[in-house]
Amino acid sequence: MTKNLALKSIQMTSTEQLLHIMQNIEKVRKKSLIAADEIVLVAVSKTQNREAIIPLIEAGQMIYGENRVQEAEEKWPAIRKEYPDVKLHLIGSLQTNKVKQALQLFDAIHTIDRISLVDAVIKESAKLEHVRCKEFFVQINTGKEVQKGGTSPTELPELMEYIWNVGLPVTGLMCVPPVGTPSAPHFALLHNMARQLKLPYLSMGMSGDYETAIRLGATHVRIGTALFGERI
Ligand SMILES: *Cc1c(COP(=O)(O)O)cnc(C)c1O
Repeated sequence: MTKNLALKSIQMTSTEQLLHIMQNIEKVRKKSLIAADEIVLVAVSKTQNREAIIPLIEAGQMIYGENRVQEAEEKWPAIRKEYPDVKLHLIGSLQTNKVKQALQLFDAIHTIDRISLVDAVIKESAKLEHVRCKEFFVQINTGKEVQKGGTSPTELPELMEYIWNVGLPVTGLMCVPPVGTPSAPHFALLHNMARQLKLPYLSMGMSGDYETAIRLGATHVRIGTALFGERI
């Protein structure tokens, strides 16, 4: 084996990746004029098991993202018994019949995208004795993809007006740009919309484009593969 190949075969562990990503986030942040003062790393743990997650918690990573309510429900209550400070963010689409569970399990929901969902959140919150979730983002389908969740940019003003009327505490916008196209225009659009609506938070940027997202003002980056390795 040549020296090069030997080097390539050395795998970084997830805790080494965590340190690397945290340092990189700071490096990129400091170089950009419009970058946020503080960036929240949401470690996307979908499909990852307990054994993969615990070392990151032990290393101090406390915020995790899941895209399915049921998977999160099967995985996290046991881990949270040991690590009660862990916070969970829902980053996948939410069906109205899962809202009750989601409000009890997650600390933040990034995928509010329609009036019927806002109504369900308000209704279930009123019924529940303990609502964990206090933070909401509206997801925007910036690429206008038919299969993707998110409200269209043109429908956003109407949805926000509804949200403000019913008093749902939405503090930011979220987007997932289409695969295979540059992310920057989508992030710039999201940034502009958030600024016009005076919403402080921007959930944007994944493993492949989080540096771009930070340069365009992301406050929350959602990173899975670059931390845990490829999902199986
Ligand atoms: C899976 C997922 C991520 C993380 O993607 P990676 O490319 O693995 O970093 C981020 N956001 C959402 C909405 C996801 O579904």
